[in-house]
Amino acid sequence: MFAPTEDQRSLIETVGDAARRVLGATLKEDDEAERFRKEYISELGAVGLCGVTTPERFGGLGLGIVEYALVLEEIAKVSASYAVSVAVTGLPQAILRDFGRPDQQDAWLPGLASGALLGAFALSEPDSGSDAAAMLSTARREGDGWVLNGTKFWITHGGYADVYVVMARTGGPGPKGVSAFLVPAGAPGLSFGKKEEKMGMRASPTVELVMDNLRLPADALIGAEGEGFRVAMAALDSGRITIGAVAVGLSQAALDVAAPYAKQRRAFGQPIIEHQGVGFMLANMAIQIEGARLLVHKAAWLRDQGQPYSHVAAMAKCAATDCAMAVTTDAVQVLGGYGYTREYPVERYLRDAKVMQIVEGTNQIQRVVIARHLSRAYGP
Ligand SMILES: Cc1cc2nc3c(=O)[nH]c(=O)nc-3n(C[C@H](O)[C@H](O)[C@H](O)COP(=O)(O)OP(=O)(O)OC[C@H]3O[C@@H](n4cnc5c(N)ncnc54)[C@H](O)[C@@H]3O)c2cc1C
Repeated sequence: MFAPTEDQRSLIETVGDAARRVLGATLKEDDEAERFRKEYISELGAVGLCGVTTPERFGGLGLGIVEYALVLEEIAKVSASYAVSVAVTGLPQAILRDFGRPDQQDAWLPGLASGALLGAFALSEPDSGSDAAAMLSTARREGDGWVLNGTKFWITHGGYADVYVVMARTGGPGPKGVSAFLVPAGAPGLSFGKKEEKMGMRASPTVELVMDNLRLPADALIGAEGEGFRVAMAALDSGRITIGAVAVGLSQAALDVAAPYAKQRRAFGQPIIEHQGVGFMLANMAIQIEGARLLVHKAAWLRDQGQPYSHVAAMAKCAATDCAMAVTTDAVQVLGGYGYTREYPVERYLRDAKVMQIVEGTNQIQRVVIARHLSRAYGP
């Protein structure tokens, strides 16, 4: 996609206005206080931003993932933390849309799509992140229902969400022994442990989730028993596109601060942008952002077309998040000493960028996915 359509352009404007209005005022204080405001999600949801790809019959916008990427990029230009929140509350929606039963969809999708309810996704554990299929949490049948035990780690929205998609082991070792469950907040046996103190994304809560004989009814299972790992990986495949889009927005925000600064800041009798060392740094930032954006849009387009897209989503996630790390680092450099202070937002951008190389599959794991694809594509 080389230029947005009229509809996409007007969507971008609506999102930018909403993000600045809802999130703009408290960015700095919420970053400093590590405060998440759930009501902001409801406000973004009120203008349709929490259910972009959820079908209209459930109150979503029913658009493609290309539009979703545009939305997330715009939100991330204001706050990467809330762009991630919108992406995370989108994960249970995508799972319910693609794998849920009609009664599960009716029960949860309208609330999640409108932002009235908040969703979360719980796969990682203290001893299994990249190697998620090594999870230890268990779910066993008891009477008419299920009993879950174990600990999930790093759960975005933990303690704030109204519903969690939780992966737990119902069978033997490996991916085929994993099933997915819908866990409503307040389910007996569900509690939350420590909230992580983080380097960046500080307006996004990351919390330990504890299941101590957590009781669920039989119909809490999503999809078939043993299908949970496939459910999780499908969600993460498109999640990689969304994280890429957030990274592009964050990178663009950094360039949007650094370039005008370099035009007005003078050294040695001229604006610093005229010094080739600075001008080239800005040029490289722009090159990386354009490239990353195109790759994110290509992955999104392939998915919208129903074509294989996993390896391109992995490339997009790597390219965009590596871009965000490089571009935000250079933005701090362009601003010199001022860039290192909280007077300007670029130090927050730099702190926010780092985690995107880690979440939804680290960038090493993305390269594993890409290398496997190459081996299949070129091998006998
Ligand atoms: C802020 C934040 C929010 C998060 N939100 C969620 C959430 O909402 N839900 C959820 O389920 N999880 C969440 N996570 C967890 C995240 O997905 C994991 O941190 C991530 O998958 C990496 O797992 P790990 O931290 O256990 O690292 P490890 O798997 O222990 O990896 C450590 C290092 O080893 C490398 N490595 C591991 N295996 C290989 C390999 N085969 N080849 C090359 N390198 C390898 C990794 O790339 C990494 O550099 C979140 C994490 C953070 C920090």
